[in-house]
Amino acid sequence: MDLFEPNGPPSWVQVAVERGLRLDVDELTYAVPTELHPIAVGSRVHVPLGRGGTPTAGWVVREGSTPKISPERIKYVIDVDERVTPLPKSLLELSRWVSDYYQCPMGMTLASVVPSAVKKGTGRSIKRHWSRSSRPQPDRLPPAQLRILTAVTAHDEPEPIAEAMLLEKARVKTRGPLQALERAGLVEATLIESVRGEDIPGGLDPRRPAELTDEQNKVIRSVTQTLSGGASVHVLHGVTGSGKTEVYLQLIERVLAEGKTALMLVPEIALTPQTGARLSGRFPNHRVAILHSGLHASQRHAEWQAVRSGEARVVLGARSAVFAPLREEELGLIVVDEEHEGSYKQEQSPRYHGRDLAILRGHRANCPVLLGSATPSMESWAKATSGKWALHRMRSRPAGMTLPQVEVIDLAQEQKSKIDRDLGKTLIDGLHEVTSAGHQAIVLLNRRGWASWIGCSNQTCGFTLRCDACESSMVMHRDRRLPQGGHLKCHHCLRATRLPSQCPDCGKGLIKLGLGTQRLEEVLREELSHLNTDQIVRVDSDQINGLHDLHNILGAFGRREIRVLLGTQMIAKGLDFPGVRLVGVVSADTALQLPDFRASERTFQLVSQVAGRAGRTPDGTKARVIVQSMHPDNPAVVHAAEHEWDRFAEHELAMRAAAGLPPAKRMVRIVFRDRDLDSALASANAAAQALGDSGEPIEILGPAPCPMARIDERYRIGLEMLADTPGTLGRALGRARLAGVLKAGEKVVIDVDPMTLL
Ligand code: ADP
Ligand code: ZN
Repeated sequence: MDLFEPNGPPSWVQVAVERGLRLDVDELTYAVPTELHPIAVGSRVHVPLGRGGTPTAGWVVREGSTPKISPERIKYVIDVDERVTPLPKSLLELSRWVSDYYQCPMGMTLASVVPSAVKKGTGRSIKRHWSRSSRPQPDRLPPAQLRILTAVTAHDEPEPIAEAMLLEKARVKTRGPLQALERAGLVEATLIESVRGEDIPGGLDPRRPAELTDEQNKVIRSVTQTLSGGASVHVLHGVTGSGKTEVYLQLIERVLAEGKTALMLVPEIALTPQTGARLSGRFPNHRVAILHSGLHASQRHAEWQAVRSGEARVVLGARSAVFAPLREEELGLIVVDEEHEGSYKQEQSPRYHGRDLAILRGHRANCPVLLGSATPSMESWAKATSGKWALHRMRSRPAGMTLPQVEVIDLAQEQKSKIDRDLGKTLIDGLHEVTSAGHQAIVLLNRRGWASWIGCSNQTCGFTLRCDACESSMVMHRDRRLPQGGHLKCHHCLRATRLPSQCPDCGKGLIKLGLGTQRLEEVLREELSHLNTDQIVRVDSDQINGLHDLHNILGAFGRREIRVLLGTQMIAKGLDFPGVRLVGVVSADTALQLPDFRASERTFQLVSQVAGRAGRTPDGTKARVIVQSMHPDNPAVVHAAEHEWDRFAEHELAMRAAAGLPPAKRMVRIVFRDRDLDSALASANAAAQALGDSGEPIEILGPAPCPMARIDERYRIGLEMLADTPGTLGRALGRARLAGVLKAGEKVVIDVDPMTLL
């Protein structure tokens, strides 16, 4: 059944629906009923889908041509979603690239490119604005009406005056007098649409260093030279605290002065309030838009509209801000801060990498892209050192600020004096010392909960508590209200169960190992009893509820009300507090244990980044960094402790090249998930066969069970494809799909340039 009777020959549009369709039937053709004609490319529409004609949202991706189907099979666009401004062409093209490269249907890609707040029109309101009509003012008017009329007449701007402002100026509390004026034809209303968001935390931070360092000057000078010279990519390797942010700000300042716009990406939502404050403080005359998923829906919509309308000149955001609807021809610079961060990779479809898309956007917009990091990704480092991209370096911190001394503690050697199996005396003593002297400390532990391994105390029994649905152990979370003082939770499928009081197999007692942040907090409260309750604060995703929470905590830490901040990687990056005299890493080994070729790279990054939170003391006293490890001789740990980036990177790149792994090769990972192990294996084998038969020069590793062999009752079989170029991998995937294997969906995950291999 058709919803509209056409009154004339229909025109056609190609629509990508927001549904997980197959990649090869990504766009569907629909007729446009005359009353909706014409529909702009980029519009969001609703179309009937499937036999039942279920109304489904989609995007008009291009104009269509008359399909060869019988008239009774024609389906019509139901309506155009007027709440959503059509997407600019540049964003459609970028999305198309993402869809092709990351093997995600176009409709699904577009669904994730546009924030849902924008699609829903959250916070949008239409308000009356008023202006004076040409009708002459009568001799007599009631006082309230007279005051309103005077205020309207006095409003000396081209735009009409907003109703709320008008009533306030006229000191009138009700709308009655205004309506009377409207009836008399003395004033006229205009409806103006606006999106109102709440204020975003952050404030203004206008600080500007008195003098730039020579290194900063040099980088700014050479990147400036490329600002109007078309597309280019720059890697800024600057040690932690070398003042990279100042370099970004100075470059953005130059871009704004040319009348262009700038986009800056940061890896964590948590870091935006600080950076946002610096941008807004530095550029008070320009609108800085902030885009990330931690915003309230109406805020997010308001910010997005500010970018779309061209009002915002600077955009700051996390990964998805790479899709900010900035005008391509106005874009003057893209900055990607902490470009090595894994959080730039989206871990659901489309599995895009924000940094890589930033580079693509820079190419398309013909502007420079600046990638900054103290520990660049091996991918970027390889390009920067081979001359493909420009390399800039800042090896030291501004005068008076030195890099901290890093002490690596062999945890196995601290056996006797250990406070806990996972916590040595050196770290505890250090914490005691700095906090007693009134200073601050940061303690990092990348493991949530109270204990991450629970098993029978009887060695011959061997029982351990594992998740029924996943190949993983259950994590104990403390909750004193519960009978056993806590419950068990699986961090993969989020199932929770009761904590038994004894071993379910043999009845002996249970032992709880694997220190988590919750338990670390308890230990620190006991050991540092001179501090009061509010002076020790834990920051992890169990404890922190949203951006405001974290912002308040960091504020209190900045005012030194909090003395010890402990937590997961949420606190490892970007924070800059001069009162921090000790940084402790409870375990440098959390990343090393992962069965992943990036384990060393991650370990180096973790140790250097967290160590970088210390030693920024301007008064010359050295801060301490204490890193605990069971593998104190591991090159990643040793090089990070010695601040030897070049040696580490050289060693690591050589290993990757020898093993034929990224960045020497390009990788695509495919995971087959199924409740039935044999089905998963069969699909994986069929895919491996088809990929092998594709005739493309690729190497296939596997199929084999993934390190996380089962999650949420689904078995996981993985395979990796390696080749010299992404094009080769893309063609092999295309052939396999034509052969009928690799149907994207629930059961098959295709991850192009994967960041983790779990
Ligand atoms: P990075 O991002 O490289 O780790 P930041 O940009 O956070 O470093 O800078 C570290 C600290 O140095 C900040 O407190 C910053 O205000 C300060 N800083 C930056 N440039 C200068 C300078 N030229 N002179 C003095 N201090 C500076
Ligand atoms: Zn589970």
